[in-house]
Amino acid sequence: MSFDGLGLSDSLLKAITELGFEKPTPVQEQTIPQILKGKDIIASAQTGTGKTAAFGLPTLDILEPGKRIQCLILEPTRELAQQVEESLKDYSKHLKTRVGVVYGGVKYGKQREMLDKGVDILVATPGRLLDHIGQGNISLKNVRILILDEVDRMLDMGFLPDVSKLIKMCPEERQTLFFSATLPRAIQSLMKWVLKNPEVVEVGRRRAPAETVTHAFYPVVERQKYKLLIELLERTHFESVLIFTRTKMNADFISRRLEKLEHSVGVLHSDRSQGERTASLKGFKSGKFEVLVATDIAARGLDIAGISHVINYDVPLNAEDYVHRIGRTGRAEKEGDAFTLLTEDELKNAAAIEHFIGKKIDRIKLDGFDYMYSALFESEEKLASRKATSRAYGRLSR
Ligand code: ADP
Ligand code: MG
Repeated sequence: MSFDGLGLSDSLLKAITELGFEKPTPVQEQTIPQILKGKDIIASAQTGTGKTAAFGLPTLDILEPGKRIQCLILEPTRELAQQVEESLKDYSKHLKTRVGVVYGGVKYGKQREMLDKGVDILVATPGRLLDHIGQGNISLKNVRILILDEVDRMLDMGFLPDVSKLIKMCPEERQTLFFSATLPRAIQSLMKWVLKNPEVVEVGRRRAPAETVTHAFYPVVERQKYKLLIELLERTHFESVLIFTRTKMNADFISRRLEKLEHSVGVLHSDRSQGERTASLKGFKSGKFEVLVATDIAARGLDIAGISHVINYDVPLNAEDYVHRIGRTGRAEKEGDAFTLLTEDELKNAAAIEHFIGKKIDRIKLDGFDYMYSALFESEEKLASRKATSRAYGRLSR
């Protein structure tokens, strides 16, 4: 299947070719013709499978440039909003369609100027959009296409009330598209009142991490976590490492310490100013920073090429986030490595992850690392041997 058969205009096909896209991804192949027909869509596909172009290309095809907001795209984070705006600008470079973005954490001036000039497609995070609407800078009365991107993340982040408010401000007569990595139950009730007769497209729900990622747990006592992290970094030949922490405080702590060790480090979490967040991400993408320390704000959706290693300083609380986090490496068929530090308190979360992916994850002890005693090593070994014994008994008694 090539892009030619999907019904997109020549200007778009030209831009796609220039971007080096050779053939549509499965989610693009299945949604683009439906969207062009005017259907509502609910699509779920793993991160990194090209959902932005899946909704962006047909939307650009449908709209007649007119400098009023005809399409609204909601994004859960500022970084995703920027990324999607950039992609749409790439796709529309041979069109007159204008694309703009609004998100929080920066001044209003430039955004107001952009809005005054007029845009056809507005990408936005919910909070800042509501502020602009409150100030009378934006009207949604011309919206014909409403797109909710990364819906699962949006709901996780508690945006449901804001998003509901915004949906109600859009005209009833419209096309609505939902794109998400997963379809948790909360989305399904939202779907019922927002979508009309939607086409449901589900592309291979993948619980397992990509095959290109090697991943393991590194058991350690809480007090040695930082030391083990440094040891892992020292022993690894990395090009770029993304380190995830559960808390903003840990992210700051680790980045400060790594800077002292002369690593170039960026930090990404929600207490950092937008300027800092943008600079960190840009610097990491461009290679200026070899390390990015981030909270889960970076776990989903962000498309960063060439991350060679992911390190989970904490085990993610949500099993699915594990797959998302380590999915930041090993993208586009490249090899990636993911290390997860595991303390005793986190055994439950580790078990939940193994249950979710349906596989036991290897435990690795670093040779020559001066481990303090942890009951963790023993208790897991004991557990394993007890299981083996009871399996053996089970066989005997049969
Ligand atoms: P998702 O939203 O599903 O996580 P993105 O839309 O961010 O995925 O796309 C991930 C990456 O894949 C981007 O770098 C994008 O440019 C690239 N991409 C999208 N569609 C194609 C395609 N058909 N061929 C090659 N690369 C593509
Ligand atoms: Mg996306």
